[in-house]
Amino acid sequence: MEQHYSGGCQCGAVAFEVDVDLDGCVTCNCSRCQPMGVVLAFAPRDKFKLLKGDDNLTEYRFNRKIIAHQFCKTCGVQGFSYGAMPDGSAIAAINVNTLEGVDPRALTPNQFDGRST
Ligand SMILES: [Zn+2]
Repeated sequence: MEQHYSGGCQCGAVAFEVDVDLDGCVTCNCSRCQPMGVVLAFAPRDKFKLLKGDDNLTEYRFNRKIIAHQFCKTCGVQGFSYGAMPDGSAIAAINVNTLEGVDPRALTPNQFDGRST
């Protein structure tokens, strides 16, 4: 079920809110997600709102460079990325570990084989 969450980085420079359904969350074994240990959930871009910290974000892209990973310049925590679904619709990929009031270890994420894509 889609719910409203607040999230942000460690130092507080970056804050956002999002309406997202955590039932569809995934872990991914790609060269970035695995070492970072992220749990991802996907929201339509218009369900994601950056509250502060736009000027304190660094963007990182790799591989096919279609996902814009956003992390805090100060503390390094990545709360979200910008990307698109195969149909081209804009999404935000949320790092569930950065959401307030969520215990990611209580979730049962699906495994996504990002390493093979
Ligand atoms: Zn920070």
